[in-house]
Amino acid sequence: MVVELISVGTELLLGNIVNTNAQYLSEQCASLGLSLYFQTVVGDNKERLESTIELAISRSDIVILTGGLGPTNDDITKESVANVCGLPLIMDEATKKDIEEYFKNSIYKEIPESNWKQAMIPEGAITLKNDNGTAPGLIVKKGKKTIILLPGPPNELYPMFQEKVIPYLTQSQPQVITSTTVKICGIGESQVEDRIKNLIESQENPTIAPYAKTGEVHLRITAKAVDEKEGKKLIRPVVQKLKRKFGNFIYTTKEETLEEVVVNLLKKENLTLSTAESCTGGMLGSRIVNVSGASDVYKVGYITYSNKAKRKYLDVKKETLKKYGAVSKETAREMAKGGAFKSGTDICVGITGIAGPNGATEEKPVGLVYISCFYNNHTYVNKYVFKGNREKIRQQAVTKALDTIRRCVLNETI
Ligand code: ATP
Repeated sequence: MVVELISVGTELLLGNIVNTNAQYLSEQCASLGLSLYFQTVVGDNKERLESTIELAISRSDIVILTGGLGPTNDDITKESVANVCGLPLIMDEATKKDIEEYFKNSIYKEIPESNWKQAMIPEGAITLKNDNGTAPGLIVKKGKKTIILLPGPPNELYPMFQEKVIPYLTQSQPQVITSTTVKICGIGESQVEDRIKNLIESQENPTIAPYAKTGEVHLRITAKAVDEKEGKKLIRPVVQKLKRKFGNFIYTTKEETLEEVVVNLLKKENLTLSTAESCTGGMLGSRIVNVSGASDVYKVGYITYSNKAKRKYLDVKKETLKKYGAVSKETAREMAKGGAFKSGTDICVGITGIAGPNGATEEKPVGLVYISCFYNNHTYVNKYVFKGNREKIRQQAVTKALDTIRRCVLNETI
């Protein structure tokens, strides 16, 4: 099945908002094993939108449009689709009731006249109830082609796609699509691709698609089969092959995040954790507390940005800071050790680095980060030079620090 995306909105063309819906939907389509060949962004202009829809229908099986379903006059997606398909717009009583219900539960006393426009649907369309707004999603058929209209706001789009569109798409396909993600940390995207180049090229079913995340690489294995059981059977040997190739660089093959893996590992081993952060300013602690129940293991988070704070809260020696500087192996080592002793936790991970764009010297470039980990009376320290802007460097440092905890506990080389 070939899918095509059309993102509607002049604000997208002007660069006022970033097209995150397209990124989300592209990822979702890939994981469903749908082939996405085209994406278009078009403004709120009827002629241009209609010609874009016509072209999309001519070359793709499924066309997904987002945005332009609102109540105002510049919201024209539904009208344009109805026009291209030659369908009249009719009042949908169920949607009308949903809108009444939505407003009853809102702070507004009266329903604005313009909102009734949202209860008009192309004749014969399937409606997808919007649990987070007033514009329903719509599925319109034109011959063998399917056109899916979804609201623009991500908080309305994502749940509607997950709860309503995915079941529709999977049930309308002759084969079931099953997928598994192998999540890898500690090795770069190009190295991953090099190691599995042959595997990727020779695969037809299942397929392997690599996705680069900050500091991680995800390999999505997707199989088409008569049912889920058969799909899983096809996927299993591929996962085994990947496990042989990447060993403990793989932190999970389940739908879980790195921080979840780390917190669960610490829980299992009955270990407590503290963090001593400098350039990441609390980002590591924040990732850890993303996990519900993190308080069982995560006890203290030190944000020691200044030298004074490193001395006061982590017992980093004045001489160390003077001789080697705040961004050094020696300081990182003392941060982790001091943090563990001060907090009384089993593990403390330290981060100190230069996130830039200022503060670099010839010996200490932007992106230089030391990550340390105190565990079992031993302090491990590693030096990294991350690429990217300030935000990217800090995010990579956090991911690496999480992986460092994981590897320390698993007794892996870091
Ligand atoms: P509404 O009922 O709120 O008017 P709509 O379906 O008409 O929704 P738009 O008016 O096109 O959608 O967009 C509403 C908001 O949704 C935008 O201001 C923006 O915040 C968000 N949005 C729209 N399209 C996108 C997109 N492609 N990526 C990310 N956000 C988007």
